[in-house]
Amino acid sequence: MTIDPNRDLSPADAVLIVDVQNDFCPGGALAVPEGDRVVPMLNDWAEAAVRAGARVYASRDWHPGDHVSFVPEGGPWPPHCVQDTAGAAFHPDLRLPDSAILVSKGTRFDQDQYSAFDETGFAQELNRKGVRRVILGGLAEDVCVRASALDAIQHGFEAVLIRAATRAITDDGRESTERELAEAGVAFT
Ligand SMILES: [Zn+2]
Repeated sequence: MTIDPNRDLSPADAVLIVDVQNDFCPGGALAVPEGDRVVPMLNDWAEAAVRAGARVYASRDWHPGDHVSFVPEGGPWPPHCVQDTAGAAFHPDLRLPDSAILVSKGTRFDQDQYSAFDETGFAQELNRKGVRRVILGGLAEDVCVRASALDAIQHGFEAVLIRAATRAITDDGRESTERELAEAGVAFT
């Protein structure tokens, strides 16, 4: 499937930019290889979305300082994206439109939230705004992008992954994730 952002977007679409934060980019605490490469293309999609009357959402990992997902607390990840730190800020080149809405996750004290839909009320927000299709990219493909895409389908939305605007932590992760997403009904552009 090819979606031309300059022709094929409508107000029934939402562009979801997943976790394009400094800590997930080269030099960050939990860097995804080439993570910063997703920025220019996501800027273009966000701009095209605004022109088409589609909504733009940007999710962010937004952890308390001693979050349960961090290694010192017995979790799987090095500390990252701690609230209000430079690592949690969006990549400096990411141009979010003024109308973009943030979806904060990873804020719970008792569990992690990989998906932008996980107990954030995001599905209700999209339904309320008449969104039918979620077009997404960002970081990391094999973790939070994966979980968000699967949840979009689970909640009854069409989901389309902008393949060139996402990066995985590992190549194996990319392959297995894309297989899984395709099987779940996620489309790729
Ligand atoms: Zn996290």
